[in-house]
Amino acid sequence: MAKCPLCGKPLDWGELIEQMLTLENAGEVFKDREKFVQTFEGFVFKCPHCGEEFYGRNLPEKEAKKVFELLNEFNGSIDWENQKVRLRLNSLLALDTMLEQWDKKVKG
Ligand SMILES: [Zn+2]
Repeated sequence: MAKCPLCGKPLDWGELIEQMLTLENAGEVFKDREKFVQTFEGFVFKCPHCGEEFYGRNLPEKEAKKVFELLNEFNGSIDWENQKVRLRLNSLLALDTMLEQWDKKVKG
């Protein structure tokens, strides 16, 4: 799970993505995978716990890519008008990891 690189507290992906929704070109960014990854890496996030700022590249890339997929998989995952994420991204990511491990176990 994503953690603040400075204070080490767990971060909520929904909250992180909401910080990105303020971008002027957010509509394009969240449709284009490459653009998203690029923008994400260079985006300055602010930790809600310690208030420090850090770049997206300090967060796990695999999770960021999965978040992009999830947001595009579900219709209406983003409430653009209120700049809110409607999905519980952290729960979905946890579930995804669980299924992956289970899959490994079954196949292994
Ligand atoms: Zn922090």
